[in-house]
Formats: sequence, structure tokens, C-alpha cells
Amino acid sequence: MAPGGSAFKEVIVSHLISSDYETGKAKSEAKSNITMTKSVVGLNRKNVISSKNGVHDLLVCPVCKNLMYPPIHQCPNGHTLCSNCKIEVHNICPTCHHDLRNIRCLALEKVAESLDLPCRYQTLGCHAIFPYYSKLKHEQNCGFRPYNCPYAGSECSVFGDIPTLVSHLKDDHNVDMHDGCTFSHRYIKEANPFEVENATWMLTLFNSFGRHFCLHFEAFQLDTAPVYMAFLRFMGNESEAKKFGYSLEVGANGRKLTWQGIPRSIRDHHRKVRDNQDGLIIQRKLALYFSGGDRKELKLRITGRIWKEG
Ligand SMILES: [Zn+2]
Ligand SMILES: [Zn+2]
Ligand SMILES: [Zn+2]
Ligand SMILES: [Zn+2]
Repeated sequence: MAPGGSAFKEVIVSHLISSDYETGKAKSEAKSNITMTKSVVGLNRKNVISSKNGVHDLLVCPVCKNLMYPPIHQCPNGHTLCSNCKIEVHNICPTCHHDLRNIRCLALEKVAESLDLPCRYQTLGCHAIFPYYSKLKHEQNCGFRPYNCPYAGSECSVFGDIPTLVSHLKDDHNVDMHDGCTFSHRYIKEANPFEVENATWMLTLFNSFGRHFCLHFEAFQLDTAPVYMAFLRFMGNESEAKKFGYSLEVGANGRKLTWQGIPRSIRDHHRKVRDNQDGLIIQRKLALYFSGGDRKELKLRITGRIWKEG
């Protein structure tokens, strides 16, 4: 689906794995940049290495094939592997089957410090070059980093840039797209509205201010109470998402609930937004009241508006 699909996939997986390290390290990055320039490790620091380079190969974990970050481990015979894989292989060296114990490979960690690497999204158009330990932080925010498909309900493995995903949502998920910054949307569930155990999802796409937004409507159990929730996600980075605001309104019979928020980036999984309860939450009893009639059918009209902040 996305151009160069298989190449991205590995990239994204290794991102997830290395993110633990990244969060801890990112904060000290500015500082470590300075110390790194001072450190003398016998290698030419200005040597930008490519993936064809032998030093680069040394830093690839032989088990998961991702780049290794401290603590890098080694067995008594000198075989290296990353800290995630050390746990995975139950402390047995996958190469020579020795007990791994707790030996760190400080030399390799130092070598890594002395390297400059191109952004992993180089093939997608990013030409930035970073010290080894600053690379992860950049790649998290790199403008060329592909997005995962924001469709909820089934885990979709498609990823790519925003135009690719917009076409994908329309063509492969049959998502409706609306233009403009105000909307009015009806959610009707004919089946027994008392059954929300099987969570349902609905997604609508909005094209406002030349950008794309996903309106989610979900039914799920909050603690033990069934609820409906609506929220907006922005198809772009978090820094850009913050430049927008939105409001949602639902009601009937002289009652109304309103919600005002900031759209979340699609970098945040829809389930995370739901877990944070960062949206309009409607208790089932109220939802049925809003639906009128015999309260056997869920019929909600949600109106909303998207605006630009500042
Ligand atoms: Zn590994
Ligand atoms: Zn070994
Ligand atoms: Zn980049
Ligand atoms: Zn998809």
C-alpha cells in the first residue's frame, strides 16, 4: 500500500523497542551533545557512517536486528546483544550458549557515542545527520516519519504520509470525508443498545483549514458502566495538533452536554485517547435519554466545530 512498505516496517518496530531508552536519555541530550564532542574515542567523530559500514554492523543487535543503545551487553566470549534481547533469551548467549551474566560492553557504547548517523527516514526525504544518541529523539519528531493508519476497530498495518493515509481511509475503510469546520453527525444503532460489550467504532474524516481530522465515536465499558465517547484526532504531529481546538455537543429534550478540547495527534493511539478520557463521554442512560423514543435504539446527533487557535 505505502511506497517502500517493507522498508518502513522494520523502522517502526525498532522505534517502539528503543523508545524506553529514548525517554530516559532524551532529557539529557542537550548536555550529552557537549560532552560527546569532547570525548576522544580514537574514531573520527565527523565520519558519518552508512548502514553499509562495518561499525554500524557492530551496533546492530544480532537477535532483533535493531541498533543497540546502553546498556549494551556481552557474554564472556564477547558476543554482544541489546538489553531487550538479553531478557528475551533468558540470559543465555544465543551465539555460544554461555551464561550472559551482567557484563556491559562499555567499549561499544563509547564507539556509538563517537558516531554521526543519518536520520532513519533518509530514504523518505530527511537529510539530517545526528550524533548516535540524539538520533532517536529527532526521529520521534522527524517530519518524514510515517504515520500508522488511524482507523479504529481493527489493527490495520498500513502506514505512510498523510495524503497516503487519507486515500487509504477513503478507499480501503470506506470512511466518509466532509469538508468544512462545522459538522453535525448522527449515530444510530439499530441493534440492542444495551449491548456495548462488543465495543463499536465509527470514524469520519474532516478536511478543515486544509488539514485532516478524524472524528471517532466509540462505545465501550468504562469501569463497569457502558459509555459512548466522541473525540477528534489530528492527522499530523502533536505540535501542530495543539494549534487547533474543537468542541462537541450532544443533547435532546432540553438537555445538552458539551466538550471543548484540543485534538490529539494520530501518533497517540485511539485507545490511549479513550483511556485518558480526553473527549466527550456520554453515559449510556443519558445517551438513551437523548435518543428519545422507546429507548431501545441509540440515536445521537453530535454537532461540532473545529477552529484554529491564536
Ligand atoms: Zn536485540
Ligand atoms: Zn557468546
Ligand atoms: Zn529525520
Ligand atoms: Zn487502515
